[in-house]
Amino acid sequence: MGSAILLALNLANSSFASNLSDGNQNNRTQGKFASFAPLTPDTPVVGIDLGTTYSCVAIIRNERIGVEVIPNESGNRITPSVVGFTDDERMVGEPAKNQAHLFPQRTIYGIKRLIGRKFGDPEVQADKEWLSYEIVSGKDGSAYVRTNVVRGLSRDLSPEEISSMILLKMKQISEAFVGNDIQHAVVTVPAYFNDGQRQATKDAGAIAGLNIVRIINEPTAAALAYGFGKIKGNRKILVADLGGGTYDVSLLDLKDGLFTVLAISGDTHLGGEDFDQRLAEHFSKIFMKKHQKEVKSDNRAIQLLMSHVEKAKRDLSTLLYTRISIENLMHGIEFNEQISRARFEELCSDLFKKIIDPIEIVMRDSGLKKTEIDSILLVGGSTRIPKVRSIISEYFNGKELSQNINPDEAVAYGAAIQAAMLRGNKKRILIDITPLSLGVEVSGGLMSHIIPRGTQIPTKIAQSYTTEQDYQQLIKLSVYEGERSLVKENRLLGQFALTDLPAMKRRVPSIQVTFSIDENSILSVTAREETSGIEKSITINQDKSRLSNDEINRMLQDAQRYAEQDKVIEGRINAQKALENYIFSMENTVDESLANALLIIDKKAIKSTLKEAKIWIKENEDSATQIDFEDYLHDIQLFCDPIIKRAYKRIAKELAEEDYSSEL
Ligand code: AMP
Repeated sequence: MGSAILLALNLANSSFASNLSDGNQNNRTQGKFASFAPLTPDTPVVGIDLGTTYSCVAIIRNERIGVEVIPNESGNRITPSVVGFTDDERMVGEPAKNQAHLFPQRTIYGIKRLIGRKFGDPEVQADKEWLSYEIVSGKDGSAYVRTNVVRGLSRDLSPEEISSMILLKMKQISEAFVGNDIQHAVVTVPAYFNDGQRQATKDAGAIAGLNIVRIINEPTAAALAYGFGKIKGNRKILVADLGGGTYDVSLLDLKDGLFTVLAISGDTHLGGEDFDQRLAEHFSKIFMKKHQKEVKSDNRAIQLLMSHVEKAKRDLSTLLYTRISIENLMHGIEFNEQISRARFEELCSDLFKKIIDPIEIVMRDSGLKKTEIDSILLVGGSTRIPKVRSIISEYFNGKELSQNINPDEAVAYGAAIQAAMLRGNKKRILIDITPLSLGVEVSGGLMSHIIPRGTQIPTKIAQSYTTEQDYQQLIKLSVYEGERSLVKENRLLGQFALTDLPAMKRRVPSIQVTFSIDENSILSVTAREETSGIEKSITINQDKSRLSNDEINRMLQDAQRYAEQDKVIEGRINAQKALENYIFSMENTVDESLANALLIIDKKAIKSTLKEAKIWIKENEDSATQIDFEDYLHDIQLFCDPIIKRAYKRIAKELAEEDYSSEL
């Protein structure tokens, strides 16, 4: 047999096709990483927790000292994720937060709730009400913020740009601390962040001049921080991360130092800011009752009230009563009110109830019993709220909660540990993800992706293929890495062949191709022909043959640049395949299934149409477009299908008559 080709069965409707295009759209800044110095064991790499409300940065400079959480210029270990604009300058962190009430429309906070989201997203729309700045519809309908920067002139910025300003601040804080340039960082994101949101976060890093060497999930970082990475044996760890804007629950399985995410759930819109809003509503109602003034009508008053209620809420985590006292809330009116912890809990009772739902989901998804959970980690500032703690502990029948690390710092702490691992100081113990998609070559030189880029490892994914030629006894498998549609644009990782297959007509064999990557990034590819049981495998050590960051970036950049072109080529090849498949199945119908049912004249007509079609393909293979192939297919379908339909009708009628006569 000549060269054997695999045919992807369901390439056109594979869900990966849409993931791929999402990913490509968001890879626009990848190329900027190219100028960074390569990572060596001596390169300082920081871990950054880019939080909704606060951000935190940590580093391991010296193994003996361990993780150092880096204080900002005011000596605080967490920095507000706030960016403020005045006529002349841009402020990030504490100064921006402190002046927020002076520049309510120009102070941007909670940007993580917007990153990677569309303006029309109902959650974005709901948030708008309690935001003192304006959200507008930006490029491609994405949510942008309007900053009213210079003397009334407005400028719309993407959430990536705002996030980049916060990342830049964290970079500067780290540089002041280590006294050196910091170019590389591990940045954490919620586990439920989709590819677009992760990529947007990476883009923000690139804009800030930071090479984000790895994006890791916040719960995994938290688990690393609690020291679970070192533990031998098997542990099931539940991480509940309730921050400023989001709630994230993950169930991790730790086996001999390796984490696997068993289940994740969460609420993308539940966090400290929701509790703040409840308190703000409460106090603004009181203000309205006493002074007939609507706080929401005044952006400055919104800002002032929000910052005071946030502080009151924190106080209530340790005190049973607190008071807010604002000298001039609006129109020179002083506002002074007390609130109790019990009242706060009552105001937020429906929100607190929502805390259990995602926990129940991960328990159900994982099939584990409550008693099988070994540790419960609470992460995020809002887990300091006593009610939140008691609700979670009660759900697990009073189980103790792990709390040896400050919940505000745990994520950055874990990111710093991962950063040190990536520098090459330590054995890798964290689940990695595939930097590029992996797949096999199928007919037409197309890449059939089997493991999508960004898949967590270890992983195992199988896909079925069949042959495209009759009596193929040899099937060659070529394994590639890359995002492009054509294999020749991707990187060949290895090849092998299934030989001595029993002779079968095309499309009869079922070849199961399984890709599995173990925790050491070792990729094994197995191909098995199901009817004969013939099987072969190869192993590719990706760690050794791994591409450098620059190479990966170049490939991703190319994939983006050529995405349109690739789509055209892929569309054309698939249209040609569809036409060839139709001809093949019509030949089968005419010669086999309907061989005796077709009128000779019809049979001849179909056969000559199919013959003509084959000649047309041969002559036009190189020049025909996708539309040409589709039009041709449409035309021969218009001719052949009614004839076939008529033949089936005739058979049905004959059968009915036969039945009738046998009954008689
Ligand atoms: P994170 O995104 O993890 O930094 O969490 C920030 C959120 O935690 C904000 O909404 C804070 O108001 C909230 N927070 C921080 N400390 C406390 C505390 N002691 N009590 C209640 N909420 C807190």
